[in-house]
Amino acid sequence: MTQDDQPQPSFASLELCGPLKRALKEAGYEHPTPIQAKAIPYLLENRDLFGIAQTGTGKTAAFALPLLNRMSNNPKPVQPKRPRALVLTPTRELAAQIQASFDTYGKYVKVSSIVIFGGVSQVPQVRALRQGVDVVVATPGRLLDLMDQREIDLRRVEFFVLDEADRMLDMGFVRDVRKVLEVLPPRRQSLLFSATMPDSIVRLAGSFLHDPVRVEVSPPATTAEKITQSVYFVEKREKRGLLSHLLKDRSIKCVLVFSRTKHGADRIVRHLHQRMEEAAAIHGNKSQGQRERALEGFRSGKTRVLVATDIAARGIDVRGITHVINYDLPNIAESYVHRIGRTARAGREGVAISFCDVDEREYLRDIEKLTRQPIDVVEDHPFVSDVPQGARATRAASSRPSQGRGGRGGGGGGRGGRSGRSGQGGRGGQGGRGGRSGQGGRGRRGGRGRSGGGGGSSGGSRSE
Ligand code: AMP
Repeated sequence: MTQDDQPQPSFASLELCGPLKRALKEAGYEHPTPIQAKAIPYLLENRDLFGIAQTGTGKTAAFALPLLNRMSNNPKPVQPKRPRALVLTPTRELAAQIQASFDTYGKYVKVSSIVIFGGVSQVPQVRALRQGVDVVVATPGRLLDLMDQREIDLRRVEFFVLDEADRMLDMGFVRDVRKVLEVLPPRRQSLLFSATMPDSIVRLAGSFLHDPVRVEVSPPATTAEKITQSVYFVEKREKRGLLSHLLKDRSIKCVLVFSRTKHGADRIVRHLHQRMEEAAAIHGNKSQGQRERALEGFRSGKTRVLVATDIAARGIDVRGITHVINYDLPNIAESYVHRIGRTARAGREGVAISFCDVDEREYLRDIEKLTRQPIDVVEDHPFVSDVPQGARATRAASSRPSQGRGGRGGGGGGRGGRSGRSGQGGRGGQGGRGGRSGQGGRGRRGGRGRSGGGGGSSGGSRSE
């Protein structure tokens, strides 16, 4: 199934119980998103599901609502350490946000939930598990620790959700996922969500889903179309200058800047602080407290610029992001789509600006190939670098020189989002996949004076 243009359904047409509908109304949800409209009826019928959807599509409610509905219609006393539902998700931020969603949607039903992750004391988590809880939202590392300590027993699980499965595999959690699958009881409802569908995910899905319904929304190419995208050719050493230059535009109100590395993110923040810009970084080396403060400042509007790595940014739920700036282009084209998707949430428009140095042109070609869209080149800026002949096949945007510099700021809208609880995903191990080989380009525009470097890069893998 793919997204279509049918009239918008309403939550009233879904067979959800009154208390859930009441909570949705209070949360301001009027219409189900496409994945909710498609998935919820099947999930209420106890079907397994293979969902292809990214964060931002409303997939959390797509699984949380039917799960809460089924559990509240069939209440069972809680049992110490033996939850009825397990949601496994790769990062602490996602885990915290998912659990907060359970709180929001489940406000008027008697279904309890907790979140489990590493990097914080396990004592409160263990205490809650011993008291008994219905739903556990967990990252793999701490979950396995608690399984080893026999503080959680998954043999009573009736509902299992594997969220962001592709990211889970990228982060090296495949063995942990398999260990969890081994102990789950055979009779259960299972759901897998993934933003992309490489063979490894198809195989994983085949190993534990039974006759799943497949629901697919917003394939990458269509998601990217909603966002005004532009690219600035710039030499690596000039990127800071270009960033400061762009940030002079105050219509860039709330901007998420992506850095490929943690140290790079810190350097960008230091540079911005020197220029009296409110900025914060969020990445795997930051403590939980630092992450929470950074996110809170960003959500509240106090911090205009949040600099993040891919892994850390995954799952950040901030509604008012007007711009995404790719300070470094990702070497995985799908990451580009995830990144820019942070700015066009819930149907809003957004602006995505990418800096591209000579080593990143190959990545740019991969991105354009994936999204099937050429990205407009902004030539009118003080740091323009030369584009070597044959380096790329991207359309120049000389007629729209200010494109992406705030000219078409994404729809504002309220900030807010959900308050992130804390959490640590535990394990570090993340790494980029191998780079791709480049394709030849057509070279639609010549250079601008300065000498350009050679075309593609080595394309090696880079990690966060
Ligand atoms: P998710 O993809 O689950 O992370 O959700 C993305 C954002 O959309 C979150 O801020 C949700 O609160 C919001 N959201 C989810 N479903 C709806 C809906 N039906 N109506 C309005 N907002 C929604």
